[in-house]
Amino acid sequence: MGQRVGIFGGTFDPIHVGHLVAAVNAKDALGMDRVLLVVANVPWQKADLRAVSSAEDRLALVDAAVGDVPGLEASRLEIDRGGESYTADTLSELRQSGPNDELFLIVGWDVAGDLATWERHEEIQRLATLVVVNRPGAGHPQGLDDDGWTVVEVTVPNLEISSTDLRARALDGRPLDYLVPESAVRCIRARGMYATGR
Ligand code: ATP
Ligand code: MG
Repeated sequence: MGQRVGIFGGTFDPIHVGHLVAAVNAKDALGMDRVLLVVANVPWQKADLRAVSSAEDRLALVDAAVGDVPGLEASRLEIDRGGESYTADTLSELRQSGPNDELFLIVGWDVAGDLATWERHEEIQRLATLVVVNRPGAGHPQGLDDDGWTVVEVTVPNLEISSTDLRARALDGRPLDYLVPESAVRCIRARGMYATGR
């Protein structure tokens, strides 16, 4: 018997409670056995735009944040594969390691609107059911079914939190507490991340 596995990819620079709340609620709503928080090695859509923290640092934060919440796992699959991170490769790797698993790709509204630009998205469509979660600041994505996706929508608490805002907060010394789990805040301090202003 295979498992129902959620794949929630991100840069997680840093991870925040918006990510975690989305992941646990998608897991619960669709009866998934586990959700992998897959840390992008080189996020090809972002790498040219700003300095991204090292993959190992971002993974350490995800690992700390997940703690022992049952069924949530930090995944280093894309880090171990190296190079640029493509979801199509990640899903086909998971398909090979678990041929009987049912795969669910979890994305927020902002990302759902961009899926047509993703590498080999037809391959992704064949490998996984798309799970779309609401996110404040982005519109409800249109036309996904027509574009060939098998889509399930899951409503999660609206949390207006982004890593971009958290990096700005850290830079000017404003608190990250309660937006980022305390275990991950400690990890950010210990690694001296985001703290160029201090
Ligand atoms: P950045 O501001 O650097 O882009 P981010 O907060 O958008 O960071 P990402 O790592 O880019 O975080 O996002 C990973 C996934 O998490 C995406 O699918 C995104 O839509 C989703 N996500 C991020 N924040 C939220 C949130 N507050 N509520 C729901 N989904 C979210
Ligand atoms: Mg983002």
